Amino acid sequence: MSEEREYFDFGQRSIEEQQSLLTHTWCDQCQQADLGMVNPQEYQQFGIRFVEGECKVCGEAVFTELSDDEF
Ligand SMILES: [Zn+2]
Repeated sequence: MSEEREYFDFGQRSIEEQQSLLTHTWCDQCQQADLGMVNPQEYQQFGIRFVEGECKVCGEAVFTELSDDEF
């Protein structure tokens, strides 16, 4: 499994999927769910697909791990 990040185009997802992924977040900094993220980037690392962005509230990095059925 590769440590290299392989990037994907988040914009290829449907608007509904994008909205859902951008709103269902967990921020470690705020210790709060569903604050939302901006500047999303989608990539795969260690065989896991992530969407990474910045917390809308504090600007810290937030990650969402995508399960298989969301690919
Ligand atoms: Zn935050």
